[in-house]
Amino acid sequence: MKRVKARTQTGLLIAALIFLAIGVGVVLGAQRLIKDSEWVSHTNAVIGQLDELEAGLRDAESAQRGYLLTGDANYLADYRNARDRLPRSYERLSELMADNRQQAVRAKILQSQIELRVAQMGETLARYESGGLAAAQSMVGKEIMDVSSAIRRQKAQMVEIERVLLVERAASTHRSAATLRTIALLGVPLGLAVIGAVYWLLVMEVRRRAQAETATADANKQLHTGVARLKRNSADLRSLSRYGSMLQSCVEPAEALQLTSRMLATLLPGIGGTIYRMRNSQDHAEALAHWGEHAARGTDLVAPEDCWALRRGQAHIVEVGGLHCAHVAGSAAEAVTACIPLAAQGVQLGFIYLSDRDAGFLSRIEIVEAAAEQLSMALSNLYLQERLRMQSIREPLTGLFNRRYLEEAMARELSRCARRQLPLSLLILDLDRFKAFNDVHGHAGGDALLSAFGKLLQEMSRGEDIACRYGGEEFTLIMPETEPETATQRAEAVRDAVENMRVRHLGAELPKVTVSIGVAAFPGDGDAPEELLRAADEALYRAKRNGRNRVERAERTIRA
Ligand code: GH3
Ligand code: MG
Ligand code: MG
Repeated sequence: MKRVKARTQTGLLIAALIFLAIGVGVVLGAQRLIKDSEWVSHTNAVIGQLDELEAGLRDAESAQRGYLLTGDANYLADYRNARDRLPRSYERLSELMADNRQQAVRAKILQSQIELRVAQMGETLARYESGGLAAAQSMVGKEIMDVSSAIRRQKAQMVEIERVLLVERAASTHRSAATLRTIALLGVPLGLAVIGAVYWLLVMEVRRRAQAETATADANKQLHTGVARLKRNSADLRSLSRYGSMLQSCVEPAEALQLTSRMLATLLPGIGGTIYRMRNSQDHAEALAHWGEHAARGTDLVAPEDCWALRRGQAHIVEVGGLHCAHVAGSAAEAVTACIPLAAQGVQLGFIYLSDRDAGFLSRIEIVEAAAEQLSMALSNLYLQERLRMQSIREPLTGLFNRRYLEEAMARELSRCARRQLPLSLLILDLDRFKAFNDVHGHAGGDALLSAFGKLLQEMSRGEDIACRYGGEEFTLIMPETEPETATQRAEAVRDAVENMRVRHLGAELPKVTVSIGVAAFPGDGDAPEELLRAADEALYRAKRNGRNRVERAERTIRA
């Protein structure tokens, strides 16, 4: 920048100096031209003056001759006039010769020669007056001829010298003009070239600055996007770590999926997403959570071979026009899609599917992959916990809750109903003469029946009921918020259903069985779990005693 300024200044200074030199040259040249032309006219004036002097002499001579020949007094007057004008001519000549000493000397000689000639003429005239024409004619001789030719020579020499000077001065004038032309022809283009160079320098500088400004603006923009990306990255990392710690406190898979869909919806606004969970059978992945709006929706059920992410166990990203997975439905051609697998300990758990019309979200796909990894670990843990909990509270033959869970549930439900002043009924169900059944059809046959009975009991339960296998072939059904009358009706329905139950075992149909049921209720038959269980057991005992395949209510309830 400084360099350009210095160059520009130097350039302008040079241009100014060139034009100054041109100006000075032109002024000096013009002065010389004027002086030269003055000299030329001066020389011309000198030559003219010499001619005039000579003409004056000739005038005097011819008038004198006329007088001598005619005696006419007019000629004499002309002669005198001409003669008297001569001194004025000498004077003017000597003025013109003031600057040239040699010519001035010559002029003096010429003057004396002419004066000599004039004296001769005066003498001739005097003779004429005294002796007539003959006397005068005798005077004309070699002497006069010499003076005349001396005058002619002198004058011719002087004119010649002036002519030489004239030629010299003309040449000088020519040189001055040529110099002026040279100055103009060389100086002006040179000056213009320097100005042009300065102009070019400035143009280049302006262009360079414009480029520099653009470059700076670009750099600034890049810096800003860089800073924005860094900010976003650190914000992403923060939300990822918050997500991670929240995942830790999820108690069931559904909760973890919900949390993930909320997090990804915030992380990638405007992007459509779905989380698929692999079924236990591993034959299909099932869409469980959706968010945003898909550019291309996926099908709800996905076979593992229909998703490249599931097949290859790594993220599968497809840009517009690429080869999408078979599960991508709708306007797949205009969509950018990403499938990120969920897997832990070598087990496929499902995948996250994202889609948008724009590839912009792919720049943050790493954070989604990180989230997918965390989700995979969390899901794997939650599934394991779920399995363990199931194992700890369910019993395997019937799939019903076990006795331990019954006790826990009884206490919880009782206190909940007591708090809200709602009733709670309890059924105890015992298959009739099951020992004999076992003896006839074997333990496996008995198990098949128990399993079928468990399923039936579960099917006939409402959502809030809790069906348990209490022991051997005894079952309980807790019915929160249910009056004993309703409970008895439903017990009747179960009894009836068992009577009509058909169970196949080893290709043959097992004989029908019946069930006896005892009903007890809170608050009528007690307010502690053991009290209620005992009351229901007593009712069951009565049902057995009274012939089986019956429903009996606890005695206190009946009394009430
Ligand atoms: P009641 O009508 O008086 O109830 O006669 P019952 O034969 O059913 O008599 P009880 O209830 O005393 O007999 C229970 C029988 O249930 C004993 C056992 O053979 C059978 N049992 C208990 N647990 C199981 C089991 O897990 N599987 C099978 N197959 N049988 C069981
Ligand atoms: Mg029994
Ligand atoms: Mg029995």
